[in-house]
Amino acid sequence: MKVIIIRYSEIHLKGNNRDFFESALVSNIKTVLKDFRYEFARSNARYIIREFDQERLYDIVDAIKNVFGVHSLSIAEEVSSDLNEISRAALLFAPQSGTFKVNTNRADKRFPLRSMEVSAEVGGDILEAHPNLKVDLYNPEHTVSIDIRENGKTFVYSETIKAVNGMPVGTGGKGIVMLSGGIDSPVAAYMMAKRGMTLRAVHFHSFPYTSLQARQKVLDLAKIIKKYTLHMTVDVVSFTEIQTAIHEQCPEEYMITIMRRFMMRIAERIAKLHGAGAVITGESLGQVASQTLESITSTNSVASIPVFRPLIGFDKDEIIEISQKIGTFDTSILPYEDCCTIFLPKRPVTKPRLEHVLKVESVLDVDTLVENALSSIESVVIE
Ligand code: ATP
Ligand code: MG
Repeated sequence: MKVIIIRYSEIHLKGNNRDFFESALVSNIKTVLKDFRYEFARSNARYIIREFDQERLYDIVDAIKNVFGVHSLSIAEEVSSDLNEISRAALLFAPQSGTFKVNTNRADKRFPLRSMEVSAEVGGDILEAHPNLKVDLYNPEHTVSIDIRENGKTFVYSETIKAVNGMPVGTGGKGIVMLSGGIDSPVAAYMMAKRGMTLRAVHFHSFPYTSLQARQKVLDLAKIIKKYTLHMTVDVVSFTEIQTAIHEQCPEEYMITIMRRFMMRIAERIAKLHGAGAVITGESLGQVASQTLESITSTNSVASIPVFRPLIGFDKDEIIEISQKIGTFDTSILPYEDCCTIFLPKRPVTKPRLEHVLKVESVLDVDTLVENALSSIESVVIE
């Protein structure tokens, strides 16, 4: 019978917290498998998926591969612990050409042959069926693995499929990711989910200056990210009133600096509303004028909870590579305007001094503007 073996990563290191990590991991695996028929079992620091539709094997593998906390998977034959049956299963995994070895692990010490003997017997059977193959114990091109379990069953498999690793979502606290339509912020969301954070998103739009397509693009990105975060709600906030007020009342070169401070204040308020303990942005040091140390200082100074910037030390190339890998790149580069590109100053300050920012900002009724923006929120649950 074909089964899928799931191995998990880092979490086994967590001592007393192991149950907490494992139950999050199991629940997340079940979430991604909700549309499949299968049986789930735990077996000795691994999980086994049985009784699924064979035609959907690779869909199931693909879904589990993206669950943070999963280290690797193998598609295995499960047979009774009987040498003939083991050999027959091993033949199914025999390569067509090249070198191979058989690797046996015998957890069941009652099994009459020792692991070396099992490997030798099964290796002999494979060679007999495929005389063109060669055994290479040190540097084989293919390995056939045999795992003799205590319950009278044996797993035979050859390939180990790498999964995403990381920590199970739900074990790393909760964060609000500031999601623009750009390349960086979806990658930042992915990075934090990879460390086990539960995420919710906030997006600022300036309708009618920004289009409905721009808003839809962000929801499309959120849908892609949900593959990793498992749940996703986007709080869409109207930023038009704030942007208009800044545009009318503050010096043009401070537009972005002050906008960023409003975004951060609102994100923090949303975090508090939902019991989240951090705000996440896609900033990378020095990438643009608003991402210098001085600009980040000015934005950070309105936040009283941690702000995580997982891309801070990444080059654009590296960020693009991840966005391609996680599938957000093609959507991110669609050409719709983000609210940051309207009323854009010709010469934004690159090194805003905080005292000066405070002075420039003091003409605005910050509290009312923030409250109005909060009451404009439309929460979109991504299905
Ligand atoms: P991105 O590719 O994520 O848009 P960027 O390189 O364009 O990033 P900025 O426009 O300076 O950088 O934005 C920095 C960060 O501020 C973004 O990564 C995002 O986290 C947040 N941000 C910017 N605009 C918005 C918006 N309209 N809604 C929500 N968050 C935003
Ligand atoms: Mg942007």
